[in-house]
Amino acid sequence: MQFRDLQKQYEVLKTDIDRSVAEVVSSAHFISGPQVTELEGKLAEYVGVRHCITCGNGTDALTIALMAWGVGEGDAVFVPDFTFFASGECPAGVGATPIFVDVDEHTYNIDPVKLEEAIVKVRDEKKYRPRAVVTVDLFGLPADYDAIRPICEKYGLLLLEDGAQGFGGAIRGKRACSFGDIGTTSFFPAKPLGCYGDGGAIFTDNDEWAALIRSLCVHGKSGSDKYNNVRLGVNSRLDTLQAAILLPKFEAFRENELDAVNQAAAWYTERLKGTELVLPEITDGFVSSWAQYTVQLPEKIDRAKLQEQMKKAGIPTMVYYPRPMHGQGAFAGTDSAKADCPVTERLCETVLSLPLHPYMTKEIVAKVSDALMSCLA
Ligand SMILES: *Cc1c(COP(=O)(O)O)cnc(C)c1O
Repeated sequence: MQFRDLQKQYEVLKTDIDRSVAEVVSSAHFISGPQVTELEGKLAEYVGVRHCITCGNGTDALTIALMAWGVGEGDAVFVPDFTFFASGECPAGVGATPIFVDVDEHTYNIDPVKLEEAIVKVRDEKKYRPRAVVTVDLFGLPADYDAIRPICEKYGLLLLEDGAQGFGGAIRGKRACSFGDIGTTSFFPAKPLGCYGDGGAIFTDNDEWAALIRSLCVHGKSGSDKYNNVRLGVNSRLDTLQAAILLPKFEAFRENELDAVNQAAAWYTERLKGTELVLPEITDGFVSSWAQYTVQLPEKIDRAKLQEQMKKAGIPTMVYYPRPMHGQGAFAGTDSAKADCPVTERLCETVLSLPLHPYMTKEIVAKVSDALMSCLA
């Protein structure tokens, strides 16, 4: 059994993907080909923002957004403590200080009450200037933007939505990657919308930032004269081949896969409810893109042993994430390591992610669920 079955997906989409790839190869337009522009247009329309700028990966997307805002030394950037490393790595990489904030134990997303407390504390200490909030739509569920947006406005902070796992999610019809002043996503193969290598995108409604981001992605080139580099940028583009792969994959995603993965998640919840497991909760009015189906095990369970037993039954499981951000070695001895995040610490000990993808059958969900329940018993 595959944790996320990309081979099955390719079998289903093979004709369209092969044709699309062959077109690029025969055109030899490998960088910034027409497929890139077409994809950017479609993604911007789907997300509901004016601009989509594709780039090399989801990590670059975050870094470039922060560069466009000039976030850097002396700035505090608030980041959830329970996330993939890049969410905090990128603010630190541009010279800012990530301040890690605890998450909600049911949604796994940044806790708005604790966010405001952290902002006030940093503001009053005066060591760093509160500058931006990075929200993460963890495991596919949009963060609590109804609460977070007003906090950002109250304290004059920029909102950067790390939608690497959230693409396709929504709140009352408004789509993920449109909640931040800038939103980003990743097309890493295992993400909700993945390509066949690395890829990423940046979304914004702001024309000025969009132009700046386009420039930053290509060595800080000027809009009118390609060989005049007016600022320091990076080289971060989505290959035409990856765009060509994403075009048919995006059609399948919006037409079928997003619904199918929601169905698979619903099957898990149906099968596992009433057990000792804490199951993922989707807030009313929210849609998840189900990057992961993550449960919490009872604290008494030896997780490593359980994973070993599941593996023997042919079932892969993963731990996202075993270590809080503030406990990552890269932050040791810095102010980022000073965080009070008991919920994250507990989640790191108890979470377990189960195989999930749009091509899962009800039988496979039952097999995984039953194996898990018998391991718990
Ligand atoms: C995957 C991921 C990223 C980074 O994306 P890449 O394309 O792998 O660079 C950033 N943030 C989160 C939350 C992610 O899950």
